[in-house]
Amino acid sequence: MSDLSIDIKISKVSESKIQSVDFNNLTFGKVFTDHMFVCNFVDGAWQTPEIKPYQPLTIDPSARVFHYGQAVFEGMKAFKDADDQIWLFRPEDNFNRINKSSHRMAIPEFPKAYFFEGLTQLLRMESDWIQKGKGNSLYIRPFVIATEPAISASPSNSYKFMIICSPAQSYYAGEVKVLFAEQFSRAADGGVGYAKAAGNYGAQFYPTSLAHAKGYQQIIWTDANTHEYLEEAGTMNIFFRVGDTLLTAPTSDRILDGITRKSVIQLAEDNGITVEVRRVSVAEIKEAAKNGSLKEIFGAGTAAVINPIAGFEHAGDAFELPKLENSYASFFKEKLMNIQYNLSEDPHGWRYGV
Ligand SMILES: *Cc1c(COP(=O)(O)O)cnc(C)c1O
Repeated sequence: MSDLSIDIKISKVSESKIQSVDFNNLTFGKVFTDHMFVCNFVDGAWQTPEIKPYQPLTIDPSARVFHYGQAVFEGMKAFKDADDQIWLFRPEDNFNRINKSSHRMAIPEFPKAYFFEGLTQLLRMESDWIQKGKGNSLYIRPFVIATEPAISASPSNSYKFMIICSPAQSYYAGEVKVLFAEQFSRAADGGVGYAKAAGNYGAQFYPTSLAHAKGYQQIIWTDANTHEYLEEAGTMNIFFRVGDTLLTAPTSDRILDGITRKSVIQLAEDNGITVEVRRVSVAEIKEAAKNGSLKEIFGAGTAAVINPIAGFEHAGDAFELPKLENSYASFFKEKLMNIQYNLSEDPHGWRYGV
């Protein structure tokens, strides 16, 4: 799929730092690989991309990204199978989504051939950083920042598109309890909630820190108008299992169109599990928790794949979720990971060989 005629300027590190990395004790997102991909947008065009040693950037303090948050990002993973083949999971969707996010933030779209060729060459160079074994992966962070040194409040005329990579282990967040939002909002109608825009995350940190202080690790955001409908977790989409039916909110301009979310919906359909994609009210979930029909809540996103929720609180009412033997959460996690690691059939063509 990649167009090998794309010219990428490559400069390699003289010595890899991989020997200094303890792959059995990785903190998510702290260690980065030897190289990074950089492509600058100047004079109305994306310039020749470069892969070069991972290093700090020199950016003018007046660059618009620092003042107006004109920045978008993606999150994806590379996996390695027993034969040392590297795989990505639905990368076209990440590519399309970063341009959708860019469009909303008035950032010029990035060319597809640059994205795939840059990613492919970078991953081949960093192959040793992708450890084999289920749970091990290389987390990939493409992002774009506005670099023009000018603080007038208008879109930048120059940008940097970059890809950095961080080795990751199977992510276990511990027992996660969540607070249903009553006061703060993540996204509003007509806003940027559907984009992976940097500011969406920055704005969640304060309310989430208040939730932490109450003993909750995350917030399930509700609709900004009424706070009556459950929307998403802010880094993950969210599913509720009531009886044997799976419920999840429809995507909208407030809810990010997660690749894990849509993969779960497809896998549910493939496996005869009923999914209702519709508005899910706080009231019905609390009622289901009271009458015992609420069996599971889980988040779905690239970093954790599937993250089961152990309990929730809303308006002072706290609920614990049952610990299930055969949970949908573990079923979907297993199915997804088997496809990602080339351990099962891939009926929908989600794997992409690098
Ligand atoms: C990235 C993200 C998700 C999860 O999307 P995936 O494509 O499954 O990783 C969910 N919500 C928000 C706000 C996100 O930024």
